[in-house]
Amino acid sequence: MTDTRPVALISGGSRGIGRAAVLKLAADGYDISFCFHSQAEAAQLLAKEAEALGARVLHHRVDVSEAAAVRDWVNATEKDLGPVETAVTSAGITRDKALVMMSDDEWTSVLSTNLDGVFHVCRAVTFAMMKRRRGSIVNISSVAGVHGNATQTNYAASKAGIIGFSRSLAKEVGRYGIRVNTVAPGFVDTDMVAAVTERVRDEALAAVALGRMGTPDEVAELVAFLASGRASYITGSVFQIDGGIAL
Ligand code: NAP
Repeated sequence: MTDTRPVALISGGSRGIGRAAVLKLAADGYDISFCFHSQAEAAQLLAKEAEALGARVLHHRVDVSEAAAVRDWVNATEKDLGPVETAVTSAGITRDKALVMMSDDEWTSVLSTNLDGVFHVCRAVTFAMMKRRRGSIVNISSVAGVHGNATQTNYAASKAGIIGFSRSLAKEVGRYGIRVNTVAPGFVDTDMVAAVTERVRDEALAAVALGRMGTPDEVAELVAFLASGRASYITGSVFQIDGGIAL
């Protein structure tokens, strides 16, 4: 280690909320290790942006549904940057479909990316955090995991699972000085939302008190706060950031 910047590890950092978290945490003084799945060019550009903020930056192609790949990424991060102080899990996908039409693959791919992915990342970082008796984890759920959403049984199940997982882990590792919190965004302006039809988007926006989508930067502010020592007495909590959505 040549300096004392703490290390933040972010899954799904290449786009959307994860990307905003990478830039916010880099600006807040962290070194960064983020993973992406397919968008290597976006990852490369982001790494340069974060480096311009003074961070050392690693970016790895990782499928978070694969335990061994996640383990290798975390090991490489600890070797090259140092111990992981903060982990943020933002990697996620949707495969929306009415339940009666949903294929096995649409179910399994969403659960394995969104929920198994969180399990793999948290398991890979937690033991070292326990040994150091410090660390913070912020898992990204969704309002769909709190309230449910038609055509999203797979997605909502994965996101509700993240809430139960995070609350349980918070109870398990609190005595080791590790905090675990969940952020549940509503409707945020990213590629994920760009994929839904205009009608669905308009209906969703009509239910938002503030009358607009959130921005990735607004979510990243909350993530960075929860990750930091400023949130030192907050753990096991779920924070909705949704502009006052009524689902
Ligand atoms: P996004 O713009 O579609 O970005 C998704 C990110 O996840 C990308 O960086 C993508 O990598 C990565 N990813 C996808 N599958 C992966 C895998 N198997 N392994 C590793 N990385 C993978 O999505 P977003 O809107 O920012 O969403 C981020 C998180 O917030 C997700 O968990 C999502 O469920 C949650 N969320 C979003 C909203 C919303 O309105 N946008 C609302 C509630 C919750 P590539 O770039 O390489 O594809």
